[in-house]
Amino acid sequence: AQERYASIRDKPALTKCGKTITLKMNAGLMADLPSLEGSGAEGVGLFRTELQFLVRNQMPKRSELSALYAKVLDAAKGKRVVFRTLDIGSDKVLPYMKPHDEPNPALGWRAIRVGLDKPGVMRMQLQALLRAANGRPLSIMFPFVAQYEEFIAAKAEMNKALERERILGHPLPEKLEVGAMLETPSLAFAPDKFYEEVDFLSIGGNDLKQFFFAADRENERVRRRYDTLNVSFLTFLEGIVKRCDASGTALSFCGEDAGRPVEAVCLAAMGIRTLSMRPASIGPVKNILRNVDLDGLRRVIEDAGRRGEQSVRTSALDYLRNQA
Ligand code: PEP
Ligand code: MG
Repeated sequence: AQERYASIRDKPALTKCGKTITLKMNAGLMADLPSLEGSGAEGVGLFRTELQFLVRNQMPKRSELSALYAKVLDAAKGKRVVFRTLDIGSDKVLPYMKPHDEPNPALGWRAIRVGLDKPGVMRMQLQALLRAANGRPLSIMFPFVAQYEEFIAAKAEMNKALERERILGHPLPEKLEVGAMLETPSLAFAPDKFYEEVDFLSIGGNDLKQFFFAADRENERVRRRYDTLNVSFLTFLEGIVKRCDASGTALSFCGEDAGRPVEAVCLAAMGIRTLSMRPASIGPVKNILRNVDLDGLRRVIEDAGRRGEQSVRTSALDYLRNQA
C-alpha cells in the first residue's frame, strides 16, 4: 500500500485551501521505527510504552528501558518522538501486578491514576527517558489526565526526576516538552491555567469517544453505535480547538480515527492541524487531504448540523465525492 502513495511521500499534506496538516505516526515497538522514513511521517506523535511492560513477567529494569528509548530516539534521527508514560489498567493488565477486582475497569484505577498513587514505576520510567535523551530534546505525555491537579502532580514528578539527574551530573534535555492526553471530557473544561501550563495536548479519541457517548470501546454491541462524525462530538472537539487556539497550546489527535481518511479530513476541517496514526494510514490520509478544500467541508459540516443531521457522514461523503 505504501508504494501506491510513494509519489506523495515526501510532499506536504497541503490542502486545496492552503492549509498544511502535520501527519505523524503512532508506534510502540522498536520495529515500528523504520516506518518513520517509509511512510513520510513527520515524527512519532504517540509512542505507547506499555508493550515493554506487558510482554515480560517481571517489571523491566530502568537500564533496559533507557537503552530501548535511546534506540528509538536514534532511529528517529532528530524527528520528534512523543513518549507516553505507562498507560496500564482497564484493558492493559500487567501480569506481575496484582489484578484489582474493579466493576468498571475503564473508569477505574488506570494510567496516570496508578502512576500518581504508586509513583515508583513512573519515577523509574521518567528517569529512563531522561537518560535515553542524554541531552537531546525530549517530549513526554501523561495519559488519561482528568483534572488540572493530576497534571501538576505528574509534572512535579518530572521536575523531581530532572533535579535528581542534575545532581547526579547527567545531561538534561536541551528542550523538554511535557504534555497530556485529552481522553476524558472533563479536561475540555479544565481551568485556563491548565491550558496555559501544558506544553501540548493530544486528543486520545478512542477513550474520549468512549466517555463522551458512555459506550465501552471494547463492547461489540455498542462500540460502533455512535459515529465519530456525530454533530455533538464534532462540536465538542471544536470547543477544544478554540480553547487551545486561545491559549496557544499545540493540539494533535492520536486516536484511531486520525487514520481513517473521511474522519481525518473532518477533524482537520474542525481545526485540528496535527494527526497521528498508524504508519500505513499516512499515505491515504495525505492523499485525501491534498484533494480537499477544508473551508468548504467545514461549511458542509455546519450546514448539516443546522439541518439537525445526527452525523455529518453522508453530507461529508457527498461533498468529498464532488471534489474528487
Ligand atoms: C486513545 O485513547 O485514543 C489513545 C490513543 O490511547 P489508547 O488507544 O492507547 O488508549
Ligand atoms: Mg487512551
